[in-house]
Amino acid sequence: MRVVSGIQPTGNLHLGNYLGAIRQWVRLQDDAAAQGGQALFFLADLHALTQPVVPAELANATVEMAATLIACGVDPERAILFNQARVPQHSELAWLLGGTARVGWLNRMTQWKDKAGKNREGASVGLFTYPVLQAADVLLYQATHVPVGDDQKQHLELARDIATKFNLDFGTELFTLPEPYVSPAAPRIMSLRDGAAKMSKSDPSDASRINLIDDDDAIAAKFRKARTDAEPLPETPDGLAGRDEARNLVTIYAALAEEPAQAVLDRFAGQGFGAFKPALADLAIARLGPIRTKLTRLLDDRNAVGATLAAGAERARALAAPTLLAAQRAVGLQV
Ligand code: ATP
Ligand code: MG
Repeated sequence: MRVVSGIQPTGNLHLGNYLGAIRQWVRLQDDAAAQGGQALFFLADLHALTQPVVPAELANATVEMAATLIACGVDPERAILFNQARVPQHSELAWLLGGTARVGWLNRMTQWKDKAGKNREGASVGLFTYPVLQAADVLLYQATHVPVGDDQKQHLELARDIATKFNLDFGTELFTLPEPYVSPAAPRIMSLRDGAAKMSKSDPSDASRINLIDDDDAIAAKFRKARTDAEPLPETPDGLAGRDEARNLVTIYAALAEEPAQAVLDRFAGQGFGAFKPALADLAIARLGPIRTKLTRLLDDRNAVGATLAAGAERARALAAPTLLAAQRAVGLQV
């Protein structure tokens, strides 16, 4: 079992990122370790360059995101935690795969269409070839499990197409076809202000999300002001149909308590939000407080976090080197 996943070092993480992505990473790291496998997690700083960056902020954001992952339970001793830029094999393999990927394939990527919008001519070349670098990220390590959100499934499918064509064109079985891993336990967390919109760091309203750096008072206040309806909580999850806001709060409670929604409703059915919201806030504070404390401590020594990333990169380079060399040989490069 070889797990590979990356995240862009952009801004603060929120509860949706934690419950929907990072906590699944931590579980996969533990599963991989239990099976004698390996998990690799990286800060996708090379991917960040596909959009305008503020150079002075990129390095800081990378260290902060790494600290956040560690605070959330990614263990740099058990998993390999690094930033992409320190492992040049990612860029080198991406270039080789650029000979295999077709322009027509990239043209079909919805993320490219969304992010480039009407201004395709003015978009960076990197934004267009982003999925090729992403293919390199996972093929380099012969990943078997790639945890992805819905929005990245198309890119992983492309990675499989690139791997298949490369293997066929060069008569090799070099690349393992990566499987998307969608955790059955990964919830989709919605905005606290609008149950139909995803909790997101790009939402202009800070009240829409719980940030991992929010203090206890902010967490309590945001849940207190969260949009809800006037009905009491139902007996079963079916009773939450058509009640997006209510369902979201129950989903958050269940995810934080690590129990099924039914178990939450067994306790709170018949009660209104006047009782449920404070209980939810207390639970969130109890779960997120230790993460925030650990994050603050880690950020007191940013150099130590940087050293952790450097050590992770060294391990990643050792794993990446044989695959890159085999790919270079397969295409006829003399290196
Ligand atoms: P943006 O709005 O800029 O896209 P974001 O808040 O969606 O930011 P990302 O950096 O795109 O955050 O996502 C990081 C990871 O967190 C991805 O794996 C994504 O699927 C997951 N994720 C993001 N938002 C949520 C959410 N509301 N619920 C569950 N998972 C989420
Ligand atoms: Mg997103």
